[in-house]
Amino acid sequence: MPVSGLPPYDENNIFARILRGEIPSKRVHEDEWAVAFHDIAPQAPTHVLVIPRGAYVSLADFATRGSEAEVAGFWRAVATVAKSLGLEDAGYRTLSNMGRAAGQEVPHFHVHLFGGRPLGPMLV
Ligand code: C5P
Repeated sequence: MPVSGLPPYDENNIFARILRGEIPSKRVHEDEWAVAFHDIAPQAPTHVLVIPRGAYVSLADFATRGSEAEVAGFWRAVATVAKSLGLEDAGYRTLSNMGRAAGQEVPHFHVHLFGGRPLGPMLV
């Protein structure tokens, strides 16, 4: 078991199934590197999840094993999604829970994108 408390990558985790189209999602973006869709339990007027197409359990896993092209393409997609949703002018927040202790529930790396209202100070 990795230090983060996450199991090895499971091809049947919920986001892997969303990526394969086996489970429906409200997609807002997809490109070579990433797919973005609305969170089913939004914590802000806009709450989107951005996930890489590759099989990575967490941010740590992605940063370790992802290629330069994947990492660059993924983070560009995060900013592209935010801009396309009209969040750039007012500002937005990105967040990634890394590991069980940080609250990561789904073991496929993802970045939360929040916007659509003043977000206030970050609470941890
Ligand atoms: O960072 P963490 O792993 O806790 O976030 C998982 C997120 O995935 C939650 O915000 C949850 O609402 C969302 N989710 C989803 N669709 C699912 C399962 C979970 O949007 N089918």
